[in-house]
Amino acid sequence: MNTYYQLSTGDVIKQFNTSFTGLSDETVAALQKKYGANVLTQTKQKSRLAILLGQFTDIMILILIGAAVISFIAGEHIDACVILAIIIANAWMGYSQEYNAEKSILLLQQMDPRYALVIRNNNPVKLVAAELVPGDIMLLNAGDIVPADGRLIAVHSLLTAEASLTGESNAVEKHTNTIAHQNLVPGDQLNMVFKGTLVSAGSAKAVVTAIGMDTELGKIAGMLSPATQQTPLQKRLAVFSKQLSVVVIIICLLVFALGLWRGEPAFQMFLTALSLAVAALPEALPAVITIALAQGARRMAKQKALIRKLPAVETLGSVTYICTDKTGTLTQNSMQVENLYAAPGLEDLLLHAMLLNNEISFAAGGLLGDPTEKALVDYAMQHGILREAARNQFPGVARLPFDSERMKMSTLHKHGNRWILFVKGAPVKMLESLDEKSKPQIPEWQTKNRQWAADGLRVLILGYRIFDQPPAVVTNEIETDLELLGMVAMIDPPRPEIIDAISQCKTAGIRTVMITGDQPLTAAAIAARMGITGATYDGIKTGADLTDLAPEEFAGIVKSTLVYARVSPKQKLHIVQQLQKQGEFVAMTGDGVNDAPSLKQADIGIAMGITGTDVSKESADMILLDDNFATIVNAVREGRRIYDNIRKFILYVLACNLGEILTIFMAPLFGFSIPMLPIHLLWINLVTDGFPGLALVGEPAEKNIMQKPPRPPGENLFAGGLAVNILFTGVIITIATLSVQWWAVRQGYDVKAQQTMVFTTLCFVQLGNALSVRSFQFGVFSRSLFANQFMWVTIVLTVALQLLIVFVPGLQTVFKTTAVAGNALCVVGLATLVSVMCTEGFKRLKFRP
Ligand code: ATP
Repeated sequence: MNTYYQLSTGDVIKQFNTSFTGLSDETVAALQKKYGANVLTQTKQKSRLAILLGQFTDIMILILIGAAVISFIAGEHIDACVILAIIIANAWMGYSQEYNAEKSILLLQQMDPRYALVIRNNNPVKLVAAELVPGDIMLLNAGDIVPADGRLIAVHSLLTAEASLTGESNAVEKHTNTIAHQNLVPGDQLNMVFKGTLVSAGSAKAVVTAIGMDTELGKIAGMLSPATQQTPLQKRLAVFSKQLSVVVIIICLLVFALGLWRGEPAFQMFLTALSLAVAALPEALPAVITIALAQGARRMAKQKALIRKLPAVETLGSVTYICTDKTGTLTQNSMQVENLYAAPGLEDLLLHAMLLNNEISFAAGGLLGDPTEKALVDYAMQHGILREAARNQFPGVARLPFDSERMKMSTLHKHGNRWILFVKGAPVKMLESLDEKSKPQIPEWQTKNRQWAADGLRVLILGYRIFDQPPAVVTNEIETDLELLGMVAMIDPPRPEIIDAISQCKTAGIRTVMITGDQPLTAAAIAARMGITGATYDGIKTGADLTDLAPEEFAGIVKSTLVYARVSPKQKLHIVQQLQKQGEFVAMTGDGVNDAPSLKQADIGIAMGITGTDVSKESADMILLDDNFATIVNAVREGRRIYDNIRKFILYVLACNLGEILTIFMAPLFGFSIPMLPIHLLWINLVTDGFPGLALVGEPAEKNIMQKPPRPPGENLFAGGLAVNILFTGVIITIATLSVQWWAVRQGYDVKAQQTMVFTTLCFVQLGNALSVRSFQFGVFSRSLFANQFMWVTIVLTVALQLLIVFVPGLQTVFKTTAVAGNALCVVGLATLVSVMCTEGFKRLKFRP
């Protein structure tokens, strides 16, 4: 058990050979060698071998292996070998699919590293948290996840949430005093911070005392294996697959019985029924869904939307509301001071306050911190205020960090033999906190604020308060009786791509709502400029408008409002909840520590990659690596595409399987001999079903994808006529194969030739169907025919393989085929053409938008 809490801050610093100015680069290198990286050892990934072996636990595969063995004993050596080869190929495909899917998911996790702010060589630096070493001085701010265990050496109103470690649900107030008690559990070590806990308010400095697996979190890390997440779709499909399996097995038993009854050889019928079961069971379905989702998530990451929770990929398509922040998401967050107004005679003091009142770190590479504060500091420095001189003139004593609930931040400084409190914040909040002497100036300042805000500028007011004695306690209560110091307006240009993104949302049936902490006039100006509202929109609601409302009133307001200003994080949460109550599917952005509850509550919680706090990222389903609203819209589009493609895959595979089953089942009823041999079925299952099916997953979005309304989240997978479509296509496939067999019988072809023709027809019809399925609504030729190159590769390859199987003598022996005449091939081609025309015609009749 660690005892650093019993040491004084000085002793801890001494024990770790460090200092307030941090470690030097040389020491860090040596320590990294000694202690390794600050990471928790990953819980064990499934090994490749385990994934490969897993493929052979499938009951159908086991039966097939049994069949191969029986065939071998029965003297059917070639059959046995082919079945084995197909089993191996099948297992290999399953393995590579599963392995790639797992790798994609792992890669995604690694794309979201956590950063830490530390002091090294007397300079603050931001580095990947894995690089921390014991002895580092870490700087903590509200919203951070503590990157390592540490002994606190300075705190400013620090509160941490340690539930993940100690189970304590209330935030804990921390201090730097030495604690004498023996054997304290982490929850009672109030001068320590622990890896993985959250800084819920305030800021602090701490010496790193333990990293990686040596931390308190590391000690219990074994218990934290990440739960595997099944998406709603995967769950529904798992259930569906099970039900379907039962049906397929019953049919196969029937086929077997029917064959016996007709006097077919029992062994032959056993193999046929078994192969049919293997071919018709949609065992690839779950794997392909995972691939589709994981591939989609990878593509989204390339487009700067990092998916943290896989279900989000499929549910993104259901979003009906996007509630977005303004600053940084709709605007560029590249703040610049545009206008400045100082109270008469206080110009110099105002500039000093702008330089000193913030949480900015002055790193070697530039300023680190909030863009609003950076703009103020930049401005003050450009206007001749020197940092060192300012700090000497106003040495810092205490700080009340910014929080978006009270919308202010304060710093207390010693000045001569008095104390001065600098406060900056949102105009309304500041004007509410003035002393009696300053109150008469309010109308004048309000007018100026209104003028600037109407131009879409972000306005802050700065104030100050003088104390003759240091305040007894430094809490929010001292942010009153302020005198006005000045007013600053910053320009934050809109992102140019947003207007188009918002209009896309409109056609896609998605409402965009702006929820900002900024004031109404600024919000209104920006919302109108972006096209969220019309130019004359006057329905803006503020946080104050939302308090004390009856539930019905609140519901009414939420239904109609497009812009909320000056709302607190708590109100954001209520807005999401209300929208959800009204049946909406809500995506919500957030960046601050207080946004975590709304992000969790939203159907899709979206955190900001650049400006977001660790806490918001941790609660989110998706992270915008570029903080950009347009990225959300792209992700929604991508989510819709993926869901569409999964449905296309299901349509393709199930229709094909149905065609196979019906062909085998019906042929005897027409008095035909067995239309296909087990090997043919296995081959079709592996090649003809497998590859084009996979290619469908990469299909580009349909052109009207953002003109359709959002999909209801609980919608049945087979909604919108998918089941009928599957039935129809399956029947068409069967008609094609049986017609060809009928023709072959009439022409007097022997059974082997009949089987070769049916086998080839089934293969070609399915390929034609793969092309047709590429779009639910539009004809084969109405979308770019070659947009999906992988599809064409698989089609050309499959056709070539099929012709080889039919015409190359060695392969004929293996696959029990025979070369068929040219006119027979023409009939096969004709059947293919007609069946594709039928499915296309059906699509036109039923699904044309
Ligand atoms: P959005 O919610 O759209 O991202 P926001 O940055 O305006 O925008 P908050 O961060 O909640 O939202 O800030 C609320 C208000 O508090 C701001 O409009 C501004 O007036 C004030 N404010 C923001 N940052 C600071 C700060 N660092 N110090 C003092 N006041 C601030």
